[in-house]
Amino acid sequence: MKAVIFDRFFEPPEVRQVPDPTPHPGGVVVKVEATGLCRSDWHGWMGHDSDIVLPHVPGHELAGTIQALGAGVTRWKLGERVTVPFVAGCGTCPECRSGNQQVCEHQFQPGFTAWGSFAEYVGIDFADGNLVGLPEELDFATAASLGCRFATSFRAVVDQGRATAGEWVAVHGCGGVGLSAIMIATALGANVVAIDVKADALALARALGAVATIEAGAGSDVVGAVRAATGGGAHLSIDALGHPATAFNSVMNLRRRGRHVQVGLLLAEHSRPALPMDRVVGWELEIRGSHGMQAHRYPAMLEMMRAGKLQPQKLLGKRLTLDEAPAALMRMGTESDPGISVITSF
Ligand SMILES: [Zn+2]
Ligand SMILES: [Zn+2]
Repeated sequence: MKAVIFDRFFEPPEVRQVPDPTPHPGGVVVKVEATGLCRSDWHGWMGHDSDIVLPHVPGHELAGTIQALGAGVTRWKLGERVTVPFVAGCGTCPECRSGNQQVCEHQFQPGFTAWGSFAEYVGIDFADGNLVGLPEELDFATAASLGCRFATSFRAVVDQGRATAGEWVAVHGCGGVGLSAIMIATALGANVVAIDVKADALALARALGAVATIEAGAGSDVVGAVRAATGGGAHLSIDALGHPATAFNSVMNLRRRGRHVQVGLLLAEHSRPALPMDRVVGWELEIRGSHGMQAHRYPAMLEMMRAGKLQPQKLLGKRLTLDEAPAALMRMGTESDPGISVITSF
């Protein structure tokens, strides 16, 4: 099959012929119809993810049809249209048994712990517990965008953040995760204030429902601006970017007893940011992490999509061919295209 592959970190990936995957016991092979391009893929290529073994094929936001079934798979048939969360749980560890596959002790992550979906085919382990069937009306490109950024945002806003109607929700960073969070929090009836350094990202944020926007920049008082916009501080604040500055601001701009959710990944030299723990104690703030979303929570999200309250297709950006993927991947460290870029031609 054709795949995007790299032999060394930080050296240009190539499109090459590689052996087709075969399904592991309990796993399937999916013919990839669409796969999103995410900053996590760029981090992986930079060598920031210790799970990656070289040579490597990136890609973890995928949708397609089941091409081959491994031994023991009982819930799925050949040809079914599916997607998968970027964290697939083993199904047998204590976390999986409690319904928390997103923090599985033996997690399978396409494009990280195994070869991913920047390819014609991808092997997915633990298929019975993690594949999500796609409704007929949902196109592959939109479905691919759910597996990482949209579903991750859904869990961050709904399950971890517990956003409710009338609350103020601050969203720091208006990339794929942040824009998804704005749409989801708005659909729940919350009032969203969006923060980013780029005016075009903030324009998109407003189009998706943000009622206030703050352009951050050198020397700007983001915390003061959020407090002013929200009448004293956000009830819920989300760091959707993953940076020491946005994490700090997101905690500091909360009102008393507010909730911070860290969903943007903090990697490499940013992995241990300083946070105002004096404020966390004195104001009884909550800090929670959010890591992907379990397959069994997808039906609630898909139902809101079917009802028209969530429209992830609005977040789609460029459509790319597999041959264009290496250049697009390498660019992600320095520039970002608006919306979610998806590879739809292989
Ligand atoms: Zn991703
Ligand atoms: Zn598990």
